[in-house]
Amino acid sequence: TNVLNIIGGGMAGCEAAWQAANMGVQVVIHEMRPKVETFAHQTGNLGEMVCSNSFRSDDDEQNAVGLLHWEMRAANGLIMATAEKHRIPAGGALAVDREPFAESVTAAIKAHPNITISYDEIHALPSEGTWIVATGPLTSGDLATSIASATGKESLAFFDAIAPIIYADSIDMSKAWMQSRYDKGETEEERTAYLNCPMSKEQYEAFIDALLASDKTEFKEGETAGYFDGCLPIEVMAERGRETLRFGPMKPVGLTNPHNPDMNAYAVVQLRRDNALGTLFNIVGFQTKMKYGAQKEVLRMIPGLEGAEFARLGGIHRNTFINSPTLLDREMRLKSMPHLRFAGQITGVEGYVESAAMGLLAGRMAASEMLGAPLPAPPRETAMGALVAHITGDAEAKTFQPMNVNFGLFPPIEGIKGGRKRRAERYKAYTDRAKACWQGWLGHSALDAAE
Ligand code: FAD
Repeated sequence: TNVLNIIGGGMAGCEAAWQAANMGVQVVIHEMRPKVETFAHQTGNLGEMVCSNSFRSDDDEQNAVGLLHWEMRAANGLIMATAEKHRIPAGGALAVDREPFAESVTAAIKAHPNITISYDEIHALPSEGTWIVATGPLTSGDLATSIASATGKESLAFFDAIAPIIYADSIDMSKAWMQSRYDKGETEEERTAYLNCPMSKEQYEAFIDALLASDKTEFKEGETAGYFDGCLPIEVMAERGRETLRFGPMKPVGLTNPHNPDMNAYAVVQLRRDNALGTLFNIVGFQTKMKYGAQKEVLRMIPGLEGAEFARLGGIHRNTFINSPTLLDREMRLKSMPHLRFAGQITGVEGYVESAAMGLLAGRMAASEMLGAPLPAPPRETAMGALVAHITGDAEAKTFQPMNVNFGLFPPIEGIKGGRKRRAERYKAYTDRAKACWQGWLGHSALDAAE
């Protein structure tokens, strides 16, 4: 039978259903709530926002998430249209009245002639049919077990441990240098994978003091219990002893500072390249529960990072996600079982908007395939294309952690310089280019559908 089955009626599942149904495909959404609950959802509504009521910045010229809003609106996205209806004042952000928002998403899905909702939990990955798995960060236990056995245990994570990610062009290279420990690495690429920031004893002591005094977010009861051993937040390591970090992620061994070859650094903070473009670096081993404001302040004490701009800040959360860079193809299909697509937070994107965006893509791709006119992946100059290219291949698979959309994922524009001063100009150029490319891709999809 020619039905598209979607597991999960959250941000991604609803958007996927809406897109596919509007292309004329019959869709069934399988949603376990309200029969089976999660620790975060409060209602039986589809499209429930589990925490904040904000879709973040709505600025489509200077902000990558705002650009994603724009692209979803241009594609007749349900989540964006519904957000607009229930918008409440929030400066430059798109915030909504959450209950009416979710009720309205539910009503739109229920009213669509091509969509049916089946209120049941799916316990295992289906072996036939056409499916999108959009079960989110709180995927139920049986299904998670089934995903792990199909993809390999190492390929499914139950929590994220995100180290802050920094834009390469905001790192002061008169203090930092590029070198892998003990100059390990066969290729030029491997040898340029690491940046190092040296610390004197005084700088280290001041850093530890700031870390210990910083504002932290507490774990929710049961949120990560037992999950994150071996992956401790830096502030917890510092609490265990002032020297712990210096013998852990900040050990100063196997490195020579070319700016000051005689300096015996007391500690070294290492950053590792986070994407193939080399525009993003993560701080190795620096997963943290410090509050966002505190993170920026404390991390900018690191020599070389005084002017650091963050593509994303660190965090540790309960979060089920797969190792998409190794498991998914560019069209978001599971390589080993191509009748299954994944969408939403479970693919390793982070946030309501990014989750809905990946649902939009997966829905269109699945539907077009069922209609016999498969779509190419969107151009990577678009926010959609940049994000999906990152998770399905460009991200470093070994250290893969969930990602927000950000301009570091976009291919650089020739002739436009980096640096802070020119940032507004650069971002405007990225968003102009993205809009044109996205409209091209949408036009292409419409042509295919009409043929
Ligand atoms: P969801 O919206 O969670 O939808 C998945 C759906 O699948 C759920 O309705 C669930 O009931 C259902 N489901 C699960 N397993 C099964 C099964 N086996 N069978 C049938 N149905 C199933 N992002 C933000 O942008 N801002 C925030 O403030 C924010 N806060 C968060 C707080 C918490 C506690 C968590 C866990 C995540 C948070 N996120 C936040 C991250 C993420 O963006 C949201 O979780 C987002 O809702 C993800 O969209 P999704 O469609 O992938 O998953």
